[in-house]
Amino acid sequence: MALERTFSIIKPDAVAKNVIGAIYNRFESAGLRLVASKMVHMSKEQAEGFYAEHKERPFFGALVDFMTSGPVMVQVLEGEDAVRKNREIMGATNPAEALAGTLRADYAVSIDENAVHGSDAQESAAREIAYFFSDEEICPRTR
Ligand code: GDP
Ligand code: MG
Repeated sequence: MALERTFSIIKPDAVAKNVIGAIYNRFESAGLRLVASKMVHMSKEQAEGFYAEHKERPFFGALVDFMTSGPVMVQVLEGEDAVRKNREIMGATNPAEALAGTLRADYAVSIDENAVHGSDAQESAAREIAYFFSDEEICPRTR
């Protein structure tokens, strides 16, 4: 299978819990490599733009408030089947439904404060990566 990239966010609740390293360890243990990473405190406009696909949803305002409530870590993960693999590591959107051992089962408290974001397809991954990173900020890993 070809190498693929996906976009990930460690959300404000997980940053506040001080589990950035623990979450990076899960990515690395699953064979995903960080190729770009930075801490960002998003503006309202930045969060609204990122989540534009959800703007008609009833939870949109709450989602934007949450995502701007503190700093987040944004990263690009590279590996085989990276989009699907990251979603598997994350677990279901609602932590109450997330499988044991997934990030959301272990670190999330509710559907609105659910620890991590991950792209849901290669097309959204490309768009989300470009939303936060320039080409120069991404460092392909040699092996
Ligand atoms: P994801 O791809 O698993 O993150 O889920 P979605 O793309 O469907 O939703 C994006 C984000 O919106 C989720 O991660 C949650 O933070 C939030 N969200 C989704 N559904 C709900 C909901 O029913 N209520 C609330 N409060 N937040 C939600
Ligand atoms: Mg989504």
